[in-house]
Amino acid sequence: FVIPEFAHFTKQIRGIYNHCKNIDTGKVASYIPQLARYDPKLFAVSICTVDGQRFSLGDVEMPFTMQSSSKPFTYAVCLNQLGRDIVHNYVGQEPSGRMFNELTLDNNNKPHNPLLNSGAIMSAAILLYLVNPEMKMSEKFDFVSDYIKRIAGGEFLSFNNSVFLSERETADRNYALTYYMNENKCFPKGFNLQDCLDFYFQTCSMEVNCDSMAVMGATLANGGVCPITNEEVLKPESVRDVLSLMHSCGMYNYSGQFAFNVGLPSKSGVSGSLVLVVPNVMGIGLWSPPLDSLGNTVRGVQFAKEFVKLFNFHRFDNL
Ligand code: GLN
Repeated sequence: FVIPEFAHFTKQIRGIYNHCKNIDTGKVASYIPQLARYDPKLFAVSICTVDGQRFSLGDVEMPFTMQSSSKPFTYAVCLNQLGRDIVHNYVGQEPSGRMFNELTLDNNNKPHNPLLNSGAIMSAAILLYLVNPEMKMSEKFDFVSDYIKRIAGGEFLSFNNSVFLSERETADRNYALTYYMNENKCFPKGFNLQDCLDFYFQTCSMEVNCDSMAVMGATLANGGVCPITNEEVLKPESVRDVLSLMHSCGMYNYSGQFAFNVGLPSKSGVSGSLVLVVPNVMGIGLWSPPLDSLGNTVRGVQFAKEFVKLFNFHRFDNL
């Protein structure tokens, strides 16, 4: 086993969990009612190792929408279908140093990276117009959710229609970003603004739980082979590129500090989700709705910090 003394390991995980549970700072996202309704006390941690050992604590079966934690996965599908050269004609690899939804493009007039709103709207466009462009919107939704379901080892993946409708109604900034990118001729041929944004909102509104999110992280940790089904869902080179950008750009405007302090690829979302990857070892799903001022789950970030303090999982530990 990659974690030989699993019982001892899980005891320590429980210690970190109990400590982080006491934190009562942060604010649940309130821009749509469906997110605002979540109890700030909810907190779940789930672990899935690359050899399939599992451990979970707290509200691990409660569904939540992926929101921005879907961004590395839609990007992964783009890479896996088209390769990095085609994909990166349309999107950069640079942390922006700005808020995740700021109206800005990089020096080449591309979105800075695929893990910001602009870059993820671009992933939606790439999926719609460059990957099997003959598919209808409905078929494309099935195509991408089937991919994500396989990344999650067939475990819980659903779709929250009221979140989707709310996202669409509360999306002035995302419309502004998309118009701005369109003005700068960022999009591939065939682009349709409403379809593209709808598809972006749909991927944000895909629902997982902490357990299925841990498997998604574990598939990334395992080079694209899902440890639960042993299916090679993603190519190793796609996973390498996804993890590189999760390392430098996954935590909004805290990405640099997270890379320094925690040193692990990760991605957070406004629902309070955080997928954390220990390459070659495990995926960790974390979920707790209260967010800090930069939009990251407070308990999730604290858990990650204490986790690498207790175990030498920072990428540059023990060189
Ligand atoms: N649906 C949200 C948006 O596009 C997701 C953003 C996020 O999780 N930060 O604004």
